[in-house]
Amino acid sequence: MWYLSTRNQKIQKTPSQAVLQGIADDGGLYMPKSFENAQFPMEKLSGLTNKEISATVLSLLFSNDKMFNNNFNEALDAVSRAYDGKFENEDFAPLAKVADAYVMELYHGPTCAFKDVALQLLPQLIACAKKATDMKDEIVILTATSGDTGSAALSGFSNVDGVKIIVFYPKKGISAVQERQMVSVDGKNTCVVSVNGNFDDAQSGVKNIFATLELPKGVKLSSANSINIGRLAPQVAYYFKAYRDLLAENRIKMGDKVNFIVPTGNFGDILAGYFAKQMGLPVGKLVCASNENKVLTDFFENGVYNKNREFHVTKSPSMDILISSNLERLLYLTCGAEKCASYMAELKEKGEYKLAKEELDKIRSEFDAGFTDDEETLKVIKSVYEKNGYLMDTHTAVAWSVYEKWAKETNNTDVSVVLSTASPYKFSSSVMNALGKDYGSEFDAVNKLNAYTGAKIPASLVNIENKPIVHNVTVEKDEMLSFVDKMVNTPIWRK
Ligand SMILES: *Cc1c(COP(=O)(O)O)cnc(C)c1O
Repeated sequence: MWYLSTRNQKIQKTPSQAVLQGIADDGGLYMPKSFENAQFPMEKLSGLTNKEISATVLSLLFSNDKMFNNNFNEALDAVSRAYDGKFENEDFAPLAKVADAYVMELYHGPTCAFKDVALQLLPQLIACAKKATDMKDEIVILTATSGDTGSAALSGFSNVDGVKIIVFYPKKGISAVQERQMVSVDGKNTCVVSVNGNFDDAQSGVKNIFATLELPKGVKLSSANSINIGRLAPQVAYYFKAYRDLLAENRIKMGDKVNFIVPTGNFGDILAGYFAKQMGLPVGKLVCASNENKVLTDFFENGVYNKNREFHVTKSPSMDILISSNLERLLYLTCGAEKCASYMAELKEKGEYKLAKEELDKIRSEFDAGFTDDEETLKVIKSVYEKNGYLMDTHTAVAWSVYEKWAKETNNTDVSVVLSTASPYKFSSSVMNALGKDYGSEFDAVNKLNAYTGAKIPASLVNIENKPIVHNVTVEKDEMLSFVDKMVNTPIWRK
């Protein structure tokens, strides 16, 4: 499989190269040349284990490359190394029946957010890709996080040989639990830095570093953000897995369409669903759920992407994003590289672009969108808990709320799966707030939520407030470049 830049068809890379590089030289994102040769064998789906589904997806997307040598078992080994013993449930994405829909719980990994599914696997893919290309360089993973990516990436990369990781997070706008998860990571190859700014500042800073930093010999930068195709590919698997589970429950028959409602920020998770559809999964609608930062809802509504708007810090902070990087990949599939490049240039220059009508129509035949504000998010947490006995975090609640409104409006009768992206314990204070209970500090809220609901606290969050802080650097947003320059040249990594 060749990977092409979304902005220039002439830039072609192997899967290994695409994974190692993260972002293309022209600033574009890597996309499979075509999905024609990456069709999932649906007739085999029912007989596959979870890990075999993941390995099948990886073998298809990373075919004809030394990464797995076209050998299914090598892909399966990588998946086993990544996942065995890492998830609280044997099942890494269990489906819960809630009212007349399903919630797919993707948060049973080491940092309690869905990003673990991808970020436990990415280090294995990078290791395979390094071997495949005989690369001896040290890789420095550079990542901007609105909270969950950072801790999941740190968990995945901590103490992995030949790789170092620098994580930037916005000083304001992430929860105390999320912050402590990151600044307590002990790996000697890790560096965690807060930025005086919001997530988009941190993300723009990282993009700027990729574009301009001159690296010393023997050092290469790569990304753990969902702009890396190695981050996206593992996420495709759970869409197939959900379908297999619904088949096993006799809830659907082969060929029936299933809708997926996805709480969205950078558009990575929902795009993985679109990849699954391109690979042959019978997907009905993909419903993009946003919080008050509803730039995507507006985009799907009228075809105008406009980031020039107020940024809201919400109770679903991992979705507080005004530039959804992975939308570029959908644009590329919809309008081709040339127009994609010109839209991205407009976004950079004016902060806005507008799709042609037929482009928007095409997108709207496959996607729907909606948003929910904080007040409604909290109401939904309470009502679903009281009515259905099901506890959800704020991000999942955004999606659930959008689902309820959408189902009512459209009268869609296909089975719907709402993706649950974080444990309610990761956002305990907001959840307690929703339930109308006192909680004290955010750390107290974990125990109080447990006392009130009896739901089990994930192992990694037990006593989180007592984990020692080992990283405490803050930089201004215009200091990010010089900071990384210093780190890659005269590394003052923790001893
Ligand atoms: C990252 C994240 C999202 C958004 O996912 P994208 O792939 O960026 O769209 C939603 N919910 C939670 C809890 C997250 O951590």
